[in-house]
Amino acid sequence: MCVPDSLEAHNSLQRGRTFGMVHKYMDKHDIAHILDEIGTLLMLQGENPFKIRAYHNAARALENLEEDLAVVVKEKRLEDIPGIGEKIALKITMLVETERLPYYEKLKKSMPEGLLALLNIPGLGGKKVKALYEKLKIKKVEDLVDACKKGKVAKLAGFGAKTQENILNSIVKIETYGRRVLWWTANRIAKPILEQLSKLKEVKQVEIAGSLRRKLETVGDVDILVASSSPSRVMEWFTKQSGIDKVLAKGPTKSSIRLKEGLQVDLRVIPENQFAAALMYFTGSKDHNIKIRGRANAQGLTLNEYGLEPLTGARKRKTMTKLTGKKLATEEAVYKILGLSYIPPELREDMGEIAAAEKGKLPTLVEEKDIKGVFHCHTTESDGHNTLEEMVAAAQKLRWQYLGISDHSKSSFQANGMDEDRLFEQVGSIRKLNKTKKFSTYVFAGLECDILTSGKLDFPDSVLKKLDFVIVSIHRSFNLDEKTMTARIIKAIENPYATMLGHLTGRLLLKREPYPLNIPKVIDACIANHTIIELNAHPMRLDMDWRLWHKAADKGLKCSINPDAHSTEDLQYYRAGVNIARKGWLERQDILNTLSLAKVKAYLKIR
Ligand SMILES: [Zn+2]
Ligand SMILES: [Zn+2]
Repeated sequence: MCVPDSLEAHNSLQRGRTFGMVHKYMDKHDIAHILDEIGTLLMLQGENPFKIRAYHNAARALENLEEDLAVVVKEKRLEDIPGIGEKIALKITMLVETERLPYYEKLKKSMPEGLLALLNIPGLGGKKVKALYEKLKIKKVEDLVDACKKGKVAKLAGFGAKTQENILNSIVKIETYGRRVLWWTANRIAKPILEQLSKLKEVKQVEIAGSLRRKLETVGDVDILVASSSPSRVMEWFTKQSGIDKVLAKGPTKSSIRLKEGLQVDLRVIPENQFAAALMYFTGSKDHNIKIRGRANAQGLTLNEYGLEPLTGARKRKTMTKLTGKKLATEEAVYKILGLSYIPPELREDMGEIAAAEKGKLPTLVEEKDIKGVFHCHTTESDGHNTLEEMVAAAQKLRWQYLGISDHSKSSFQANGMDEDRLFEQVGSIRKLNKTKKFSTYVFAGLECDILTSGKLDFPDSVLKKLDFVIVSIHRSFNLDEKTMTARIIKAIENPYATMLGHLTGRLLLKREPYPLNIPKVIDACIANHTIIELNAHPMRLDMDWRLWHKAADKGLKCSINPDAHSTEDLQYYRAGVNIARKGWLERQDILNTLSLAKVKAYLKIR
């Protein structure tokens, strides 16, 4: 067995650390990652190849284990599994029972931490990292960049100029892309793979699983599940498709590839009668799955990727097919057996969804088709790429009843913000356009008005009152302390003409941290002042965060799903907003832009 891929090793490192701290349920995949990592660490230390191989073999044996690991450990049958010897069996048992392994922790501490990060660089396995460490004293990524730039790496035996260049390029890529990607990006990349898989005649069913299916704002990798009785044909296509940078692993039922974009895609092929259970197993967040398993156990059942089985009978799987197969053909059926109504993937985050499903009290989540129009759109009048008419034509194509235009105000000079004259000119054009009835989509004349450092707005009330709506946003002075920032925003939303608060925290996912802010206080102030908080649907913002919406909406906060569109294509971002609204438990009635044009007009008039 070769050294596990560097990306995998990195992921297991992160998992190992998380588990050490927060003590969560560990499954066989997590433990296999740790074993692989031990193997790699031993290699870096120059241990003998047999010992190293033993860990990698044991990791593969665990990955391919068809039974519930907890049951095997309980019944002390680990050593019956080919590839797992006495010593490693003890370590696995300890991990299952205590979720810790002092041997592993000590081993990790004995190596410079930066060295492990080197394994994250495509093309660098254990052997190469060991050579870099021993021959050039390279202990971290910065050392490696330095050595590459000085040409030292090219001179090492087994490296060469080409390898040195590749290493440098990879480091740049990792730093640019980070280790996670936006949901929007991952979805775009995964879709064609899914479509092509579904066209293979060997494929009976294909689904996205994992965080991508839960619509998490960023994802670490893409998990695809396929139901098929001829896995080898499916794997053959998967590992030979175009766009692959590297095949990380190719097995009979599981393969991993890394795409040229840097994204890792894992494919698992599953027999048709286990598909629903596997889909559930690979979709739920760790915490959701722990609770679901706990529920199954309380009923004397065990739920794993192979189905739902009696707890004590896992050994005799063949006689227990009653609970797999037809009765468990859908996730709905599995949830039903567990006494729960169907939980949409977006909600499987352990945020109260299981208790709600038990009582039949899950929300009726908002859907894309509920959206009747959007606010927060820019045009060429400030920093948008399309003209007013182009934007409206695109909205009409989406069959929207209305479109809210809100270009930047004068203080956002970097975004070509408008002064009073230009603003009024635009308002004039919008009113005129509505009168011509050229488009079936009605246009609301608005503004994305800067919140100045003092909390005052960029225009006086005498100007704001002539608009249909005003979004107030922060675009500068991010580095205030929490108290000042909170007071600044509250002052802005207290303005009677502030209809909505734009991108609440200023965060840019994978790029810029949110500014310090007392969010609960701002939410309360918005409720008190009848100010909406937008759900900025730009894939890089998705702000306000989904984790906060459920409680805030219960308290009476209203939402508006705003694409912050700077072009006609950007209007599509509303879909990312709907995803996040669903993750936040929002229903149609919580969201302004699910209302008809007449109702929105009435709402804005009262304000
Ligand atoms: Zn903005
Ligand atoms: Zn904007």
